[in-house]
Amino acid sequence: MREIKYEDIVKSVKDMILYSATNLPKDAYKAIQDAYDKEKSEVCKSVLKQILENADIAKNEARPLCQDTGLAVFFVKVGEDVKVVGGSLKKAINEGTELGYKEGYLRASTCHWDTRANLKDEVGYNLPAIIHFDIVEGDKIEIEYAAKGGGSENVSRATVFPPAKGRKGIIEYVKQVISDAGPNPCPPLTVGVGIGGTFEKAVISSKHALFRDLGSKNPDPVLQGMEDELMVLLNNLGIGAMGMGGTQTVLGVHIEKNPCHIASLPVSVNVQCHSSRHMHITL
Ligand code: SF4
Repeated sequence: MREIKYEDIVKSVKDMILYSATNLPKDAYKAIQDAYDKEKSEVCKSVLKQILENADIAKNEARPLCQDTGLAVFFVKVGEDVKVVGGSLKKAINEGTELGYKEGYLRASTCHWDTRANLKDEVGYNLPAIIHFDIVEGDKIEIEYAAKGGGSENVSRATVFPPAKGRKGIIEYVKQVISDAGPNPCPPLTVGVGIGGTFEKAVISSKHALFRDLGSKNPDPVLQGMEDELMVLLNNLGIGAMGMGGTQTVLGVHIEKNPCHIASLPVSVNVQCHSSRHMHITL
């Protein structure tokens, strides 16, 4: 059984949060550059240029990419042959999150759902982190992290269709969700789509789809075809960067699939804004 120290996980998580807050990942930066090259509207071109300049300033001056520093979302794969010594894995991730958000002077955004009181004193600074665990073979821990802003989360949607809706119904649904969202999620966007499973499985898959690198290909040719079709349809909506009316609304569409019940076709759409802060480490 391989051992990983509690404090090493805390430090790794803290470092991920601090780095991601000020460094737009290479895949997102390149996707925005490509959108700039393809954009036909001069106004949207200028908005995309400002988004890239903002990313450069954030990196060079170690300032947050956006005032909405998000909730901390993690997908964690835990090897069966690894043991965390000195504390629990869940506690280590939460402690690393709290330290990262505090040390980076990042906004603590978690609040009580009803009173809307900030929970930084009661629960912890920007806690609890949203953590999805999976047990896998091996002796490693893989941690994927994203800072998830509220604007893009608010426009995300899920439904359960009858199976007869099929691929056509899914494409129409995704198009409607992005059309309804308009400028609110701060485009250009990454669109995560989860298909199949149960209701909650589709939602979690749509979130996980956002972690895939922009520009990467879907290994499933049917899903790749749907992603290509949706890229064209969504960009044709004409929403454009920050809703200014252009040809580049979407940087990528990422679809994940799951087997589902014979009577159901769950579909979820989770949206990420242009400030697509995500990172992946293996311990
Ligand atoms: S949706 Fe994204 S870019 Fe817009 S305010 Fe929220 S975190 Fe910032």
